[in-house]
Amino acid sequence: MAALSTDVSVLVVGAGTMGSGIAQVAALAGHYVAIFDARHGAACSAIDLIRRSLDRRVKAGKLDPDFVDATCGRISAIDALGDAHEFLLIIEAIKEDLAAKQELFRHLETITGPDCILATNTSSLSVTAIGSVLTHPGRLVGMHFFNPAHMMPLVEVIAGLETSPAVVRVAADTAAAWGRQPVHVRSTPGFIVNRVARPFYAEGLRVLQEGGGNPATLDAVMRDSGGFRMGPFELMDLIGHDVNFAVTRSLHAAYFGDPRYSPSIVQQELVDGGRLGRKSGRGFYVYTSDAAMPEPETMALAPGPGRIVVQGRVDGHEPLLDALRAAGVAIVVKPCDGRWRMAIDDGPTLSMSDGRSATERAAAEGIRDLVLWDLVIDWRRATRIAIAAASQASPSALVSAAGLFQAAAKNVTSLADVPGLIVTRTVAMLANEAVEAVSHGVASAADIDAAMQLGVGYPRGPLAWADSLGPANVLEVLDQLARTYGEDRYRASALLRRCVASGSSLQGIARAPMSAARTR
Ligand code: NAD
Repeated sequence: MAALSTDVSVLVVGAGTMGSGIAQVAALAGHYVAIFDARHGAACSAIDLIRRSLDRRVKAGKLDPDFVDATCGRISAIDALGDAHEFLLIIEAIKEDLAAKQELFRHLETITGPDCILATNTSSLSVTAIGSVLTHPGRLVGMHFFNPAHMMPLVEVIAGLETSPAVVRVAADTAAAWGRQPVHVRSTPGFIVNRVARPFYAEGLRVLQEGGGNPATLDAVMRDSGGFRMGPFELMDLIGHDVNFAVTRSLHAAYFGDPRYSPSIVQQELVDGGRLGRKSGRGFYVYTSDAAMPEPETMALAPGPGRIVVQGRVDGHEPLLDALRAAGVAIVVKPCDGRWRMAIDDGPTLSMSDGRSATERAAAEGIRDLVLWDLVIDWRRATRIAIAAASQASPSALVSAAGLFQAAAKNVTSLADVPGLIVTRTVAMLANEAVEAVSHGVASAADIDAAMQLGVGYPRGPLAWADSLGPANVLEVLDQLARTYGEDRYRASALLRRCVASGSSLQGIARAPMSAARTR
């Protein structure tokens, strides 16, 4: 293990939200920590904040008061960046401005010894660009903590083009010694989390724009069916639309206008109107004390089916069939290799979304009364199922389909017939982005899955999730979306296509070996 010993003193530059959290983490791990901020008094305020935060944990019985006294005794404020030779790790958490960061690191290089590791907590700037002004850019590494730094376990350890592998190792091992989970990332726009998470917001916004459902209903489907902690609209309201929109725009620009990262005019309108989310009292939702959060649309109870005929491979769907059997539904299973579907006697046929609208699929498959359901994370865990009926289906088809899922004790939500509904298309696009990131050598499959679970709390890593669905099914959803919309945005990763052709699992994928010129 190459972690820095706790004898090493750490300097944190920038005493704002992130700097104070990082200083707390380093001091809790046993280091002496100095904090510097250009704004007079900011470092002392950060120390007060840390003390209050730790005192709360003492009151909650989680920390020993003597331990907290000792931790706080190791943190000091400094009011000038004089000689900094005593520090072997400096973590910068100043404003997100390339010129300001470059100027700071250029100065730090002149007042530190050659062994001092210089780390930036930038969330969006290129580590390569920040380091480009240094005489020894090999010393500069990204250590991207998440907010709040003292609570969030993930640290993206980012290597710029010139970052020394030894420096990367020390940064990652030190993050691990501080109780964080490091993941390795090559300096590319958005690193892992901010890049791979884009479709979570973008697909929600697209479905909303197409009238798939209202925000409260779509959020509920993503939570109760998809297993996400929060739906995209409530999460964007929490992050702030100005911040979320700026990140999307910067990624879109950084990837030279790649339509995969296109911003949404729905969000642009909210920003233009000052509806920034929770912080401004209004976003998709209203946050005044007298405003109740809107309820999701849920279908009225309908009679359950007497008998259904199930076709296709049943694996993974047994809990649904067990629940239906327990509710007295007679089930005839006809195993075959085709797509999984359920036909209600004298009623509609139900199948899972494959990226086509129900209307298009009903026409293609010659089934008039077709109802599609959206992806569920797991039939035991999901409490809500979203369904959509083909335009040509009889009015009773949707009601009969609702009755089937309600018999299995699920809430049922009817969405408009948008291709890929919401969970199906979002998860397919998250997996595609994750595969593309592996393909571009941004990070390993395992680190991407870990980052998405620890950094944004996804219920499963996108690659593990896609493996459980079957990479071929994920590819089919993407191909259907690409064909339906005719947009490059939905193009499947070439690596995903190769994995499907070779039958490889996505969790085990690695990109093709780098050319010698790019391998160090
Ligand atoms: P902040 O505004 O809360 O704090 C920044 C601090 O840096 C301020 O106290 C400011 O006085 C100080 N500062 C500015 N220029 C300085 C300089 N040249 N020298 C010394 N101090 C200087 O910002 P923050 O939210 O803590 O973000 C800091 C960095 O962390 C940014 O790069 C940001 O992108 C990144 N980050 C932020 C978050 C987040 O959610 N806030 C998450 C991850 C990473």
